[in-house]
Amino acid sequence: MRYRGRFAPSPTGPLHFGSLVSALASWLDARAHHGVWLVRIEDLDGPRTVPGAAEAILGTLARFGLHPDEPPVWQSQRYTHYQQTFDALQASAGPRPLLYPCGCTRKEIADSLLHAHARHATLAYPGTCRTGLHGRSARAWRLRVPDEAAAVIRFDDRWQGAQSQNLATGVGDFVLLRADGQWAYQLAVVVDDAQAGITDIVRGADLLDSTARQIYLQRCLQVPTPRYLHVPVVTNAAGEKLSKQTGAAPLDDTAPLPALLAAARHLELVLPTAAAVSLEAFYAAATAAWAQRFVPHESSDIRALR
Ligand code: GLU
Repeated sequence: MRYRGRFAPSPTGPLHFGSLVSALASWLDARAHHGVWLVRIEDLDGPRTVPGAAEAILGTLARFGLHPDEPPVWQSQRYTHYQQTFDALQASAGPRPLLYPCGCTRKEIADSLLHAHARHATLAYPGTCRTGLHGRSARAWRLRVPDEAAAVIRFDDRWQGAQSQNLATGVGDFVLLRADGQWAYQLAVVVDDAQAGITDIVRGADLLDSTARQIYLQRCLQVPTPRYLHVPVVTNAAGEKLSKQTGAAPLDDTAPLPALLAAARHLELVLPTAAAVSLEAFYAAATAAWAQRFVPHESSDIRALR
């Protein structure tokens, strides 16, 4: 099966150094596997989407020499696919419905966790509405996760190593359709990656915690689970993840090389000094360094024979 990877920015502001690291890592992994690299604009979250940000991100990627192999996909144009998937989950046969409406507010969930003396436990949804809405109206729709023993999801992350999460104790039944009527990120990302035939997901380690939910949803939908590689998150001096909220500076479109060299250093790639000469030299050296580290030997032997 041919490698297909993607970069999936949320257009909440211009591209910053943290998102460049994810873009570069996913691009390098695709190139090192002689695969296809796609871009998906995650403009699902209406209120957080900043007008013009998606176009600015695509423009910056192009100026950095990161060109997608197929036209970018926009989540805001894919609502019918999310609805169809939601309907299919709702119709799926089983001893108990997979989806159920939830009438809990955030405050009610926090209060019931306090009651359960779960103050220090992870904030897993306690399943209040599993047995019905208790006279309240539906706000969100949740996906039921298996009980305790069956709830452990394990996967091997190509950077972070063996991972496991118990969805029952760590997350609880999670939201697919939000109280504000928006499709949840977890649903959209799984539907989009499956329909795009993504074989490998390379992204920031802040999403490591979402991965078990996404694998569980893939199993519910009987779609393949891609391989995962989560790169270390870029933090600011205060140790916070770089983001628009923590004041990350936009990338300088006029000088891509210094930012790319810094991104490669963050990814622990050791490059020859010649890599600093041009974008072309940088990408050739960075792809070779990435392949050496992340592409198993068989394929580098095959490459040498070409
Ligand atoms: N849109 C997400 C973000 O910008 C990335 C989602 C993903 O790569 O799965 O954090």
